[in-house]
Order: sequence, then C-alpha cells, then structure tokens
Amino acid sequence: MTPGPDDPSGSEAERKMRFLFQLRSKGVTDDRVLHAMERIDRGPFVKGIFAARAYDDMPLPIACGQTISQPSIVAMMTQALEIGPRDTVLEVGTGSGYQAAILAVLARRVYTVDRHRRLVREAETLFSHLDLPNIVALTGDGSFGLPEQAPFDRIIVTAAAEDPPGPLLSQLKPGGIMVLPVGQSDTVQSLIRVRRLETGFDYEELRPVRFVPLVEGLATD
Ligand code: SAH
Repeated sequence: MTPGPDDPSGSEAERKMRFLFQLRSKGVTDDRVLHAMERIDRGPFVKGIFAARAYDDMPLPIACGQTISQPSIVAMMTQALEIGPRDTVLEVGTGSGYQAAILAVLARRVYTVDRHRRLVREAETLFSHLDLPNIVALTGDGSFGLPEQAPFDRIIVTAAAEDPPGPLLSQLKPGGIMVLPVGQSDTVQSLIRVRRLETGFDYEELRPVRFVPLVEGLATD
C-alpha cells in the first residue's frame, strides 16, 4: 500500500527513493557513495525559502552569495574520488557543509576550508548535530591548502580555479586523487580528476560543470 501524504515516514521513504533513483539515473553507481548520500539528508543544509527544493537535483543559494551544489554533482565528484575508509580528505569550499558531510561518511578524516567564517561556523553546528566528529572545519584561503595537515590522500575543490592550484598539487600524496572544476568562472568549466603518480600527474577530463569561482584571500564575513 502506498502511504498517504500525511504519513511522514512513508513520504520520507518515498522522497529518499526518488532522490536515490535520480542519482542512479545520472550515472552514480558506487554503492558506498549512494549509501552516504542516503545517510546525509540534504534538508538541513538548505535554509529559508529554498528548503522546499532541498531534494531536487539542482544547486541552491546559501548564505554569503554562495551555492550548495547539485546532489548528482556532489555524488559524481565523491565517486570520482574513490575514497577508502582510511583516507584523509581535504575539501576546499565548505559552503553549506553538505559535501563535507558526505565525505565524512566515507573517509577517516575530513578537513574542510572556506574563506567565509560565517559558513564555517554554520557548517560546524550542523556537523555536531549530525554526529560527524571526523570533520575539522577551518576558515582560510583554501587555495594554499592546509600545509600543517598535508599530505592528503584525496583533495576536492568545490570552487573553480583557472588551473589546479600548485599548493594543492604538492599536498597530494603519491597515489592520491584530486577532483576539481577548472576554467573561467563565467564560462564553461570542466571537472577534472588529477592522479598523483610516483613521478608527475595524470589529468583526466570528466564532464562540463559550473561552480562559483575560487577567490583569493579571506572574506569579511
Ligand atoms: N561544497 C559546498 C559548495 C561550495 S560553494 C557545499 O557542499 O555546499 C563554493 C565555496 O567555495 C563557497 O562557500 C566559497 O566561499 C568557497 N571559496 C571560494 N574561494 C575560496 C578559497 N580561496 N578558499 C576557501 N574557500 C573558498
């Protein structure tokens, strides 16, 4: 029997099924990633008038003029990172904290950095409510990475730079993977995957994407 609209557990289960179905239909096949996407509810990461659209596969505005990425892009980037349970991951661009929360389900530890102090503070509150103690959120200019915690097994950048930032390449372990959008902010960008080899790097273009730009320096809020 199909639960009625006033049955909250039924409608939530249905919503989850629809959400996961959307991800699968867009090429997300990794069961661990799908499980993490199921475990972390996108609802609390979207505030105010946009909350009603939290389960739609679209980017949405968040505070400080930034955006929470589209769930299928979050899932694809996570899948492309091939995270193992012992991995330490750096995320540049905390934003709402949604991507970091997904990463935290899969990795041993996640460091996430944003240039907006307010976004970092709000994300930290969510991480503690969601019982995700393996995320460390910091305010800073993530284009310099996090030298004191480097090197990282995986790095993800959720804002677009013209080229992969040098400090991030050098903070990736040999055998490590970095996924990031590159290209000019107002034109088409490409999502790329960089693998650090014993000598040099291997670059692979995954798909066109559109992200907010990676901006230098700390924000004032
Ligand atoms: N991953 C986020 C979406 C990020 S939007 C989520 O899941 O919601 C991109 C974020 O990158 C914004 O919050 C922006 O403030 C941040 N950003 C841009 N340039 C940055 C920089 N140099 N260092 C750190 N964060 C930066």
